[in-house]
Amino acid sequence: MEELLEQLLEECRPYTQQGQVATYIPELAKGDRNNLGIYVQRSDGRHYQAGDYQKCFTIQSVVKPILLLLALMDNGEEYVRARVGVEATGKPFDAINVTDQTLLSEHLNPMVNMGAIAMCTLIKGKDYEERFQRLLDLTRTLAGNPDIQVDQAVYQSEKRTGNKNRALAFLLKTYGMIQDDVEEVLDCYFKACSISVNSKDLANIGFVLANRGKHPQSDERLFPSDYAHYVNAILTTCGMYDGSGDFAVKVGVPAKSGVGGGIMAVVPTRMGIGIFSPGLDSKGNSLAGIQVLERLSKRMYLSIF
Ligand code: GLN
Repeated sequence: MEELLEQLLEECRPYTQQGQVATYIPELAKGDRNNLGIYVQRSDGRHYQAGDYQKCFTIQSVVKPILLLLALMDNGEEYVRARVGVEATGKPFDAINVTDQTLLSEHLNPMVNMGAIAMCTLIKGKDYEERFQRLLDLTRTLAGNPDIQVDQAVYQSEKRTGNKNRALAFLLKTYGMIQDDVEEVLDCYFKACSISVNSKDLANIGFVLANRGKHPQSDERLFPSDYAHYVNAILTTCGMYDGSGDFAVKVGVPAKSGVGGGIMAVVPTRMGIGIFSPGLDSKGNSLAGIQVLERLSKRMYLSIF
């Protein structure tokens, strides 16, 4: 298996140069396109890795399924579903999804920015510090890594330049979808996106979703299996934004990408996969990362379809 991973990385290395690192968050422009790493955590307890799997990058949108999980754990399915919908937007991650001057909860999707900003208001806590801390704690628990921290440089960079997200948050406020102070909500969102992880962390988080809520080592239940079904279904239909259909055909597993270059893939009952390669395609998904996953899926028959 390790050999297969090494071989796949070699085959896909040329694709790292075809993607572009994100530049709209200035700090992410410093990303190195040459990085390519993979970590696979299997249900039999074995793990395999290759390339730059220890390199850290910011989680970015891969935090969205964790935000959704915490919102579900804090409020239950009905409450969350009434506030943030489940239908794919079919639009880019930062789209302003307002139709005919109205915004309804069913227009929000938790895997794109507008829905994720709304979900920050669903996390419980006495203030936004505490809410964010609870999200960070859950991320650490799912990854089995208590050392996970926020990348302060990326956080400051996002906060300074995140005006599109500000626009989205003010629209949410205008249409009564959020009640809290916009800057406080955004601060939580920007920090959430700036959590620093590596491919191993993403593989472990993906594995808990693949294992329907049970911790891989201790077998402890971290969240109800219903929530894993909920999150995995949404990852399948919109985890790769408006590239989700293409990804479903080519790879065929629930997955989430982030503009930091990470992809977390969930192979139900079988494995969690973390990939890192910062060169992105036009939709903001790791270009070489998708190539690696496509080949891995074909060789190991991973597609769930
Ligand atoms: N922090 C990024 C943003 O809000 C997350 C987007 C992404 O990873 N696609 O734009």
